[in-house]
Amino acid sequence: MKPLQIQQIPAFDDNYLWLIHNSQNAIIVDPGDAAPVQAYLHQHNLQLSGILITHHHPDHIGGVAELLRSAGTPIPVYGPRADQQSGRIPTITHGCQDGESITIDALACRFTVLDVPGHTSTHIAYYSPDLSSLFCGDTLFAGGCGRLFEGTPAQMLASLKKIAALPASTAIYCAHEYTLSNLRFARAVEPDNARLAERFNRVTEQRGQGISTVPSQLDLELQTNPFLRSASPDIIRTLQLNNKLSGNADEVSVFAAVREWKNNF
Ligand SMILES: [Zn+2]
Repeated sequence: MKPLQIQQIPAFDDNYLWLIHNSQNAIIVDPGDAAPVQAYLHQHNLQLSGILITHHHPDHIGGVAELLRSAGTPIPVYGPRADQQSGRIPTITHGCQDGESITIDALACRFTVLDVPGHTSTHIAYYSPDLSSLFCGDTLFAGGCGRLFEGTPAQMLASLKKIAALPASTAIYCAHEYTLSNLRFARAVEPDNARLAERFNRVTEQRGQGISTVPSQLDLELQTNPFLRSASPDIIRTLQLNNKLSGNADEVSVFAAVREWKNNF
């Protein structure tokens, strides 16, 4: 069997759909739109063999029904078990939850499921040890994290810590190209972080040339993403100087203050 490849498929304004394939069979992560996926499958003569869903937002599931229709044969749809049970995502055939291992037979590829609530209450992520890759939807972004639509700061912080505990070389496949605006904010939060300044310059150049900045890598995020650095004394000091934080701050308060600042940045 040919080695697995991960292909980026841009959709809408700034979404990335991720297609994993072996030159014959393919699975798609978070197909918000069916058309660009169908076009890629057709062009490369690939058979769609499964769909992975991280959360219920329309830009992540909008293309699922159409892809199932056009597949011609029943294919498994993995997604949060709670959303399968509640009917919030009715197309899920295989509900998943934290710690479960799933195997996509057609690709001989394994994933471990992580519950990562915060952006939504039932968000999950898929970690592949074989590919050393994490497909994390709208939880961790390059240089940032998802907005808290349904979850609490404590939940999101715990989810990000779960991700931070993966091997540092893990590639981070998030679902949006938000990196430049995230890093602009990160610079305000941590103005003396040299690694961040270097990253900001590189990403500014890449985006100027229309180059994608995703996937990222976990170790780079740990060094430059303020949402993974809420224990940093420098970040706490900047928050206090900007009147975003007062008194004795625990890590959840620091994280909440950074998230709140970003919402209004
Ligand atoms: Zn979302």
